[in-house]
This record gives sequence, C-alpha cells and structure tokens, in this order.
Amino acid sequence: MTRVDTGPAVLETRPPDGRPAARPAARPAARPAARSEQGTGIDWLSGIPFIVLHLAPLALLLVGFGVGDLVLAIALYAIRMFFITAGYHRYFSHRSYRLSRPAQLVMAVGGVTAAQKGPLWWASHHRRHHRSTDVAGDPHSPNDGWWWSHAGWVLSRRSKRAEPGLVADLSRYPELRVVDRYQIVGPWLLGALCLWVFGWGGLVAFAVSTVALWHATFSVNSVAHRVGRRRYETPDTSRNCWPVALLTFGEGWHNNHHHYPPSARQGHRWWELDVTYLVLRTMAVFHLLSDLRQPSARVLATRPARSLSQ
Ligand SMILES: [Zn+2]
Ligand SMILES: [Zn+2]
Repeated sequence: MTRVDTGPAVLETRPPDGRPAARPAARPAARPAARSEQGTGIDWLSGIPFIVLHLAPLALLLVGFGVGDLVLAIALYAIRMFFITAGYHRYFSHRSYRLSRPAQLVMAVGGVTAAQKGPLWWASHHRRHHRSTDVAGDPHSPNDGWWWSHAGWVLSRRSKRAEPGLVADLSRYPELRVVDRYQIVGPWLLGALCLWVFGWGGLVAFAVSTVALWHATFSVNSVAHRVGRRRYETPDTSRNCWPVALLTFGEGWHNNHHHYPPSARQGHRWWELDVTYLVLRTMAVFHLLSDLRQPSARVLATRPARSLSQ
C-alpha cells in the first residue's frame, strides 16, 4: 500500500500507531553553523575502532583476499546499507512507512551491525540535522568544514549522546532502547561470526565493507551538501549527487529529500535510481510493510531552483 502526501515538507516523527505527530519546533533564524557550538574535541577512546578498521586493507597483504571474500564484502555492504537507508533513515528517522513491532526490531538489529551506533542515536542526530540544516544546531553542517561534516562530528565528544526529546516516539519501545544501549555488541558479533565461518579473509571482508559503509553514508552529509545539482529551492545546501545516490541506494538525491523529508521515495524522476525505494515497494507487495509515503504531484511540481550554484 502506498500513500500520497500533499502536505508541506516537514520532518515528521509519526508514531507507528498512526497518531499525528507534533510539528517540529520552528526553524531557528538562519545563521552560519558555529563549530564552537558543535564541539570539536575528538573522543579518541571510542575512535580507536574507527582508526583500526581503516587499517584493514593492510591486512590484505597478510591474509590475502579471495573471490569468496570479495563476494562476502559486497554482500555485507549491500545488506547493511539497506538497513541504514531503509531502516535507520527512512523508517526510524522519518517514519516514512509502517512496520510491525517484530519487523521494527529486525530493522534495528540489522542497522546496528553497520557500526553506526544505535537507532535512537542515529535518528536523534538526523532529526536535528533536518530541524536545523546548515544553521546553528546542525550536528554536521559543511559550513563547519568538509571533514567535520563527513566524519569529524561522529568522532566528537559532543555527538556522543542522543537527544531524548527528539526520539521520544522510538524510546518508548524497551527493545529499541536495549539495542541502542548495547549497540557495540552487534558489530563485534558480526565480525566474530565472519572470522569464525570464513576465517581471516572473512574478518577482513567485514572490516573493509564496514569502512566503505561509513564513508558512503558520511558522504550524504558532506558531498551531497557540496557537490551536485539543486532541483528545489530548499533553505539549505542540499544537492542531488548521482554518484552518492548509487553508493547509498538512493540517499544521494538529497535535495529531493530535504525538499520533502517524509517521503519513502527519494528519486523524484524516473531516471533517479532509488534502490532502497524499489526494495521497499517490493516488500510492500509481500505485506512486509505498509503505508509507504509518497510525494504528491504538487510536491514534485514545486517551482524548481533558479540557480544550480549556491
Ligand atoms: Zn542533509
Ligand atoms: Zn533525512
């Protein structure tokens, strides 16, 4: 089942029982994001796994890397990318479709294996990004520098905790709170499983695919706010960047997304490949989810941006 929306492009945090969500707080007056407000101190302790996994390609020299390992790495990337795009982003952050409670838990557990922290943390920071895009309060505006918007903010002490008030609709589920609190367990278990079943090559496949997942996901915040075309006159720097869209299964149509965040579909033209949406539509056919939110013709026909440069 799909649903066509005609409302304004707002961030919506609709609970799964269908009750209307409160409108987000009004956008603060636009002013450049200030890095001092974001906090730049790096949390080196929790940054160690981030650094160590980046050394994984060196391990290829020691253990080798067969075709089977390559297939495993690609599968680990694709499956976990889907859990991030369909789960962490379009479901937990934007509630752009409905899931049963067990399916919601599967999305959370699948997402946590991508080593991008828990669903509450992810949704909290992403909702803050939409509430304050490119102004003070945005956790990862490229106005604070490209590296900050890419990975610096993730490693900073300031970003360690979720903002509970932004994810009250999610934190009322105890099982989601457990997944979020023990988020470190998922990646470690998956890495150990890869080592146990596939040997050292399997562990390297896990590490390489995890690093690739990080940078593909991060590029939505950094590259897709700097490089690409702007179809809509959104009050931010979001852009449609096709290489990012290919790597992230549709998330690179970021100007479309900022224009209408509640939509489950981010490719607004037939040529804008949105693999995540295609999979979600297929899942809807098999009744694995429902109520896919769509942009209306009015939303799609909104006056295009006058300038492609900003
Ligand atoms: Zn954005
Ligand atoms: Zn979003």
